[in-house]
Amino acid sequence: DNLSGPSNIIFEDLVYQRSRNFKAKPKLDAQTLKFGVFCTDHMLKITWTEAHGWKAPLINPVGPLPLHPCAQVLHYAIECFEGMKAFRGKDGRVRLFRPDMNMDRLIRSATRIGLPQFDKVALLECIKELLRIEKDWIPSEEGFSIYIRPTMIATDSLLGLAPTKEAMLFVVLSPVGPYFPSGLKPIRLFVDTKNARAFPGGVGNNKVGGNYAPTIVPLKQAAERGCSQVLYVLQDGLGKGGLVGEAGAMNVFFLIRSRGLNEELELVTPALDGTILPGVTRDSVLRLSRSFGNMKVSERQLHFQEIEDAASEGLVIEAFGTGTACMIQPISGLVKEDGSEISLKFDSKAAEYWLQKLPGSLINSSKDNEPISLCGRLTRELLDIYYGYTEHTWSVAV
Ligand code: PMP
Repeated sequence: DNLSGPSNIIFEDLVYQRSRNFKAKPKLDAQTLKFGVFCTDHMLKITWTEAHGWKAPLINPVGPLPLHPCAQVLHYAIECFEGMKAFRGKDGRVRLFRPDMNMDRLIRSATRIGLPQFDKVALLECIKELLRIEKDWIPSEEGFSIYIRPTMIATDSLLGLAPTKEAMLFVVLSPVGPYFPSGLKPIRLFVDTKNARAFPGGVGNNKVGGNYAPTIVPLKQAAERGCSQVLYVLQDGLGKGGLVGEAGAMNVFFLIRSRGLNEELELVTPALDGTILPGVTRDSVLRLSRSFGNMKVSERQLHFQEIEDAASEGLVIEAFGTGTACMIQPISGLVKEDGSEISLKFDSKAAEYWLQKLPGSLINSSKDNEPISLCGRLTRELLDIYYGYTEHTWSVAV
């Protein structure tokens, strides 16, 4: 029945098996909705074999997956995933944010570890259907959303290390509030120069599960030092403190003032050199910041020494991390291995100065004419798009 070769994902073939056993929904507040704890009633599941391609997509009750103990995913971490969100606006409508970027990244990750490709438009349609079925789980308050976790695993029962002949793609949903228990309060990062998250020639630019297991212990060590995340700084032998990478599950940005007469502001984030995950939020922040038109916006190499020097001269105006889970998270300090801390608290004096120098722009005056941080301005712009206060091509209706 399959003379034309392996088949792709076909949305029209989707089968829906409704749960008979609905879970009690948790209270949708920040206290209850710890990140990633709750799972909705239904999931999407699509299986693949090399011989026949993708089977009909299935939406059925969330439950354990049948896996042979020799399944390749359990031994060689042949797994990749995505993290995206849908938001319910005040108008009751549900919107995804740039989901095409997540589909493209999932295809790139899958390709890198020998997992099959798929029709990204069809997968997105299936995800939208899942969201429609689970619509009562989608919070409506600002700062809350439903987190979407598409995942692909190699299910072939084979202890030999070889490309998989069987795979499964599944999608689960989790209602979420703020990512960090402290909410939008600035966090501290532990500067880790010993453990590498990614390195040249590695897979840091892909969202594969194997990248994350080795970050658990460094994260624990960071927590022991009062930090919420690790800032990975890769030693490159150049004696400049190492290359600034990213923080756990966030890309990092620094707003730095130049020295000397020709004063300007530069927003810097590490370039996509293969060690950095091309974040959807990163790309959005870069595009929004460039559209503001009043600061230099750079993707470039950033050595830790540069940040340390700039901070000691009071030139770092602010720093923040970006990611789907946390959105935009202000960073108040970097704790080094010797225990000393580089303070990166938002410099409101500098902000005021720049507000006068570049009236009506960069550090935009808020309604009551107080200077607000770039972080704050970007957060507002993103929230307006997420929740549909402003129409934007990045918003995709479900
Ligand atoms: N870096 C890493 C290592 C991540 O896992 C994530 C989360 N996907 C990010 C950055 C942020 O990416 P995005 O903005 O697409 O969520």
